[in-house]
Amino acid sequence: MLCLEHGRYTVASGSTGLIRACVDASVQYSHARKTFEVPIGEHQLVKEMIAGMAAGYEFSRLLWLKAGWLRNTGKRATRETALAKWIACEQAEKAAAEAVQVHGAYGFSDEFPVERFYRNSKGASIYEGTREIQKLMQADYALGFRQDKPRRHNLPPWPFGNDV
Ligand SMILES: Cc1cc2nc3c(=O)[nH]c(=O)nc-3n(C[C@H](O)[C@H](O)[C@H](O)COP(=O)(O)OP(=O)(O)OC[C@H]3O[C@@H](n4cnc5c(N)ncnc54)[C@H](O)[C@@H]3O)c2cc1C
Repeated sequence: MLCLEHGRYTVASGSTGLIRACVDASVQYSHARKTFEVPIGEHQLVKEMIAGMAAGYEFSRLLWLKAGWLRNTGKRATRETALAKWIACEQAEKAAAEAVQVHGAYGFSDEFPVERFYRNSKGASIYEGTREIQKLMQADYALGFRQDKPRRHNLPPWPFGNDV
């Protein structure tokens, strides 16, 4: 479980970065591409997609930072990393799908990076514990069905007692 906690933390981090990449690519394209004589970013339904990605980025990042803070202070973060992993992966899949949509047919081609974001976002929902496993864990914590077993070893807080 300690290994999974490390792995899930890195996947949450990577997926949060993927959402950021989707926002950046979509914002750039929304300024550049014009339809009906205006940049597509001025159409309300395109704004809705950008808003969803931007919000997903913020709350994924906050959950990931919370897990990171707990880990840096040497506290157990099994529950928090599982939650951060689930939400960041789910939001990354959503953001990547919307990023393809914002790019229209170009999003489907490999001329822009968003089709790669779409494929990569899917893998993260499967490895290091599937989305379903993360959900079951959160439900079991909330219902009181799950208690973490004591660890045989704990990692020291970072930066290992120094004030730097
Ligand atoms: C890109 C990629 C890279 C990977 N890298 C590695 C790696 O480096 N090392 C490694 O060891 N593995 C790796 N894997 C494998 C990955 O860990 C497994 O695919 C994953 O654990 C799911 O197992 P499975 O594919 O056998 O799916 P299954 O266990 O067959 O699950 C199939 C579906 O049923 C659901 N399901 C299964 N059991 C339950 C349950 N009890 N309750 C609810 N739903 C359930 C799952 O969530 C999933 O949706 C990788 C996978 C991918 C896609």
